[in-house]
Amino acid sequence: MRRINIAIDGPSAAGKSSISAMLAEKYGYIHLDTGAMYRCLGLNALRSGVSDQDEEALCRLLAETEIELHTDGSVYMNGEDVSKAIRADEVSMLASNVSKWKNVRAEMVRRQQKMAEAKGFIMDGRDIGTVVLTDAEVKIFLTASAEARAKRRWLQNQAAGITGHTLEELRDEIARRDEQDSGRENSPLKQAEDAVLVDSSDLSKEEVVEIISALVDRACAEEAS
Ligand code: C5P
Repeated sequence: MRRINIAIDGPSAAGKSSISAMLAEKYGYIHLDTGAMYRCLGLNALRSGVSDQDEEALCRLLAETEIELHTDGSVYMNGEDVSKAIRADEVSMLASNVSKWKNVRAEMVRRQQKMAEAKGFIMDGRDIGTVVLTDAEVKIFLTASAEARAKRRWLQNQAAGITGHTLEELRDEIARRDEQDSGRENSPLKQAEDAVLVDSSDLSKEEVVEIISALVDRACAEEAS
């Protein structure tokens, strides 16, 4: 079977990363979590005292921010393992703030397209199907109700030992981020015309993987014929 590329977009905490990781494992593909890249820049801006409103300074900072996405899911920024630091709730909003800038996005997209030059990638984010991998053979728009997403993020945080935010606070933060990501001028979050909508509110992860796998298997068979 031929290898293809898979684009998974959707709002915050819809399960994009965990579903992508499961698919990557199943097909032996490489998962690239593009949100982690914006999170790295947000974290670096916070640490360096660079304002998330200063596009030029953010671009200069990005030029000296080396980001490595490892196949085990760990994320390195300038050689440091920041896998946990980038998941802090304050970094989520910063990632969304830095991601609204056109030139920041252009550089991120350039890096992402370079990483996925070959086939066999599952990339998740907000603009993968619409901008980064427009020719991906399978495009999914993965969503879930705000309630389900907040609950999942809360459980994820608990499991990772990240405490300090109530379920209501997380729900508000997710709603604000969705609004900002969907309303921005540059590459707003939106479903690509050729993407398949999957609502995971009442589905288990395994069920979502099964639905997407059927599309992947079909695309691989088509490609091969
Ligand atoms: O996916 P995750 O929640 O980790 O992404 C953090 C933030 O990065 C998002 O809220 C969004 O603003 C931004 N992002 C983006 N484009 C992507 C991936 C993430 O704008 N491809």
